[in-house]
Amino acid sequence: MYLVVNAPGFFPFAWRLVKGFLDEKTQKSVKVVSKAEQYQILTELIDVENIPSFLGGKCTCDEFGGDCMTSDKGPWSKFEHVPPRWVKKREDLDTRCIEQLERESRMIQDNQEAVI
Ligand SMILES: [Zn+2]
Repeated sequence: MYLVVNAPGFFPFAWRLVKGFLDEKTQKSVKVVSKAEQYQILTELIDVENIPSFLGGKCTCDEFGGDCMTSDKGPWSKFEHVPPRWVKKREDLDTRCIEQLERESRMIQDNQEAVI
């Protein structure tokens, strides 16, 4: 499942247009979360200590030079980060990390109803 957070204001409108061209499974795997609801939804899925401060959480990744986007802390490496001009993928996960991610993705699936 993909959660789109911190998206520009036009995004939910653009998503509604694009959505119609995608198959149902893909449509359902993407949730666009408004800025007003993103803090609540993220804190239901992720420990507030692991949510970057720019999304309203407590994580600043001081030990990584303040860069939450490139650190391995929390479940973030599970997600593709899509900043405006580049896409970053992380495929070199160690075993411990994968177990943690599987746990977290199960948790996210369990919470899927709450996210809609
Ligand atoms: Zn961080």
